[in-house]
Amino acid sequence: TQTPRTNNKEHTQQSSKNQNSHTSSVKKKGVKDFEFGKTLGEGSYSTVVAARDRSNNREYAAKILDKKHIIKEKKVKYVNIEKNTLNKMNHPGILFAMSLTFYSLDFILDQAKNGELLTFIKKLGSFDINCTQFYAAQIISAIEYMHSQGVIHRDLKPENILLDDKMHIKVTDFGTAKILEQNADGEKDDRANSFVGTAEYVSPELLKEKAACKSSDFWALGCIIYQLIAGRPPFKGTNEYMTFQRIVNLEYSFPEGFPPVARDLVQKLLVLNPSERLGSGGQAGIDQLKAHPFFNNIDWDALWQLPAPRLL
Ligand code: ATP
Repeated sequence: TQTPRTNNKEHTQQSSKNQNSHTSSVKKKGVKDFEFGKTLGEGSYSTVVAARDRSNNREYAAKILDKKHIIKEKKVKYVNIEKNTLNKMNHPGILFAMSLTFYSLDFILDQAKNGELLTFIKKLGSFDINCTQFYAAQIISAIEYMHSQGVIHRDLKPENILLDDKMHIKVTDFGTAKILEQNADGEKDDRANSFVGTAEYVSPELLKEKAACKSSDFWALGCIIYQLIAGRPPFKGTNEYMTFQRIVNLEYSFPEGFPPVARDLVQKLLVLNPSERLGSGGQAGIDQLKAHPFFNNIDWDALWQLPAPRLL
């Protein structure tokens, strides 16, 4: 439901306009303005149902939260982080979210008609290079945007990358995201303390120093690119402890037939030192990542207008 843009500059200029047109249709709405349909999925403290805006027939997904459970489990903070983070972002690769009413914890999301990226990896076994290039590029574009907004996702993984009706990505699950605060020098502090994430995609710095930074999202990207091609994440032990051991020791190997250019990219992303990881170092680092030969076929300016390659 969001308008694709041709380049970043244009995106920045258009974003407030788009945000307003998109939000004005939802912002002041309440439960009565929507017709609720089938259940799309269930989380540990939420149910996601299809919702149709009666005024314009636009289809959304409503995330209805189990308030008692959330309060009992002391999760209100995480719900608010997710809502506030998603509310402040406007990018075609990031799931749009808007509060249903001002005080409610429930929220309205763009509907991701094609579900999770993980489902497709499981169904197909792995992706070909063309599809991997396209999806990796869309993930990078979404990371580039969220980092420019001072947001570190901290839990990027194929379950949290949804697909819309065009098979374009919509990054979701910002419940563990970190909004970086401005420090005394007016610079955004690039480190975010606290232990979050999913074992297989957790960065070594989080395990060793209990601190995630923007670069931690590029570690997760390396794991996802590896998984798209190999069909399984690079670090997987028999239990969580063994997985963590493999991560901190950079213990993984490439299956036979893993294309050399993809191998080079993954090796540059799965680097233990976060400041030496490809993609780190602000915009210059992201530009370097986008210039990697793996992405030679990618037209970054047209990325969100392009039809998604057929998954084979
Ligand atoms: P948990 O809370 O246990 O970590 P979760 O984060 O997947 O789980 P939700 O975000 O509430 O929980 O999502 C529940 C299910 O609904 C998921 O399976 C997801 O695929 C589906 N879902 C979530 N958001 C959307 C959406 N915008 N469009 C379509 N399906 C969605």
